Amino acid sequence: MTRLVEYQRQGSVGVITLNNPPVNALSVNKGVVQDILDALKDGDHDPHVRAFVIIGAGRNFSGGADISEFGGGYDPGKAKLPDVLAYMDTVTKPIVAAIHGPTMGGGLELALACHYRVALPGAQIALPEVKLGILPGAGGTQRLPRLIGAEKALDLMIAGDPISTEKAGELGMVDEVVSGDLRAAALTFTNRLAREGRSVVRRASQLPVALDRPAAEFFEQARSRVAKDWRGYPAPQAIVACVEAAVNQPFAKGIAFERQQFERLVKTSESRALRHLFFAERQVAKIPDVPEDTPAREIKSAALIGAGTMGGGIAMNFANAGIPVKVLEVNQEALDKGLNVVRKNYAATVSKGRLSQDVMDKRMGLFKGVTRYEDIKDADIVIEAVFEDMAVKKQVFEKLDKAAKPGAVLATNTSTLDVNEIAAATSRPQDVLGLHFFSPANVMKLLEVVRAANTSKETLATAMKLSKTIKKVGVVAGVCDGFIGNRMLHGYFREAGFLLEEGALPQQVDKVIEDFGFAMGPFRVGDLAGLDVGWYIRKRQAATRRPHLRYSKVADQICELGRFGQKTGAGWYRYEAGDRTPIPDPAVEALIVKASKEAGIKRREISGQEILERCIYALVNEGADILEEGIALRASDIDIVYIYGYGFPRYRGGPMLYADTVGLDKVLESVRRFHSVHGEFWIPAPLLEKLAAEGKKFNS
Ligand code: NAD
Repeated sequence: MTRLVEYQRQGSVGVITLNNPPVNALSVNKGVVQDILDALKDGDHDPHVRAFVIIGAGRNFSGGADISEFGGGYDPGKAKLPDVLAYMDTVTKPIVAAIHGPTMGGGLELALACHYRVALPGAQIALPEVKLGILPGAGGTQRLPRLIGAEKALDLMIAGDPISTEKAGELGMVDEVVSGDLRAAALTFTNRLAREGRSVVRRASQLPVALDRPAAEFFEQARSRVAKDWRGYPAPQAIVACVEAAVNQPFAKGIAFERQQFERLVKTSESRALRHLFFAERQVAKIPDVPEDTPAREIKSAALIGAGTMGGGIAMNFANAGIPVKVLEVNQEALDKGLNVVRKNYAATVSKGRLSQDVMDKRMGLFKGVTRYEDIKDADIVIEAVFEDMAVKKQVFEKLDKAAKPGAVLATNTSTLDVNEIAAATSRPQDVLGLHFFSPANVMKLLEVVRAANTSKETLATAMKLSKTIKKVGVVAGVCDGFIGNRMLHGYFREAGFLLEEGALPQQVDKVIEDFGFAMGPFRVGDLAGLDVGWYIRKRQAATRRPHLRYSKVADQICELGRFGQKTGAGWYRYEAGDRTPIPDPAVEALIVKASKEAGIKRREISGQEILERCIYALVNEGADILEEGIALRASDIDIVYIYGYGFPRYRGGPMLYADTVGLDKVLESVRRFHSVHGEFWIPAPLLEKLAAEGKKFNS
């Protein structure tokens, strides 16, 4: 059996090879960390060994700690990473890290505790702990500032993003960029050191921290910047405090402080939420009855039907991924209009310096506008994004059925219509599915992949693979009105509207939701997106609305005044010309107060807690039904939908994890209370009742 850490003496160098595929995680419980310590001790006591190399087998040095071990569950008999690094600080023989591939978190901390680092070009070097709501807890916050200065170390740890070997070399994290065979190059480097002996031992822990400004001023600025950029996230502030300790305290004290901060952060609900999302993102691509080796068809060309708001944006995703894309419109005029919007979009990015003119030209060169179906017969995938009208969509799919080549994926971007009915307009429903993009489609990461009754596994696998190619997060959803995201959103907006009638004002509701962590509350979102679309839909639905159910007229009355949101200078708020700042409007308040009266509702003081629970638990209760009906495969998929499509705060982990964090018994208690007061909108979801009774969670 291969060992997870191999130790071998090569001449006078002890070579420690990490061999824990796939990423050489520094697992405590599997004994990886203990084995490193044992190997170091062996070599330290061996008079033939004069220096060490630590190197990773396979594709990288080390991806860091085993994340599933965070938050407890360590075998107390096994060494932990800080034990190893503390020991390394006592070793009097030079230790060299030989770095290649992703070298992250604890992996990088191990390298930073080595006395020297050599690296191949192409390594990705990062301390990404902040993304999991924690901080580098094995000396990273103390050693990195000593190696590259406080300011740069702070920036790297707060961003958490990888840097290249070359950049790491410039900063002073890597001593030599080597090429060719890493092990051989590292041995050459180390043999040189071995000849010098203990005089070349160079511990980061003993270096002073460079900072070219008065420390107090620097850290005060850092704190206020972090408070602004990372509202709601505790880890970045703790990183500032640790770097400050590195500057002001001796190393041992700094390490103790870092440990204490790490232990604190790991227990926060924010870190739990971020770790939940880390795993949720890896789960989401898995479909239980579609094995990973299901053959996906190759997508080398695409076509869009409709070049409106969505069609143009969706097409950009293909061009961005280097895939030629045809766009079909009803006539040349509509086509020109649509492609012009695309061109303007790219041009805006170029003018902001985020895209070169050359790349823009190449991307525009991948577009081809057409008006005849025969011109799209070669497309590997066709996505329909025409008007939201079943008759129009059916006509389009009948034509596609005749024109598209056999095996082409035929997708609809419908938001509300029945994908099964659309598929039935073709003779090949196995190739049809929904691809529900979010607006703006070239920006938003979420893609609901709607599996219709007859969608084949191959078609589904193709769509999931495609979502990665075009840099989206694909989430499988079943067919229902609104799929996962919009179906849940109904209740959220409904409650926000009812709260107005009962005594709240838009600015009050928005503030509660924004304090919770959303970038915008429901009324600001409405003003931004435009209130007219929803109004037209409600008018269309009026005939079929069940008359005994409560219906708030406030939103309609706002629209009747021509207040469609920012684009008309007024909506739920008013806006000064050219300014997007929402200003509470007494006219809206008067309208709301009048509506309460007309509805026979006595206005009352409404607490922030009630606002929060009514809006968020409406999401949760519907989410529970969606889960039970199998519309979503798992609770964490729903969380992903809300994080990537609806701006749910990441540090809350999504609505379902939030409910788990509050406790399902408490959530149910509130839902029951709302049910008794507000009636049938709040019938507790059977799954919520079941899990609460069993003391379980959605995500367990
Ligand atoms: P839009 O009105 O901006 O664009 C529709 C385009 O389709 C128009 O350019 C129109 O000329 C073209 N078109 C109409 N009939 C056609 C036909 N038979 N053949 C070819 N082209 C035709 O609409 P949109 O906002 O882009 O929405 C398109 C679809 O995307 C709808 O199904 C909508 O529900 C869905 N959707 C919209 C959003 C959104 O936020 N706007 C989000 C997700 C999904």
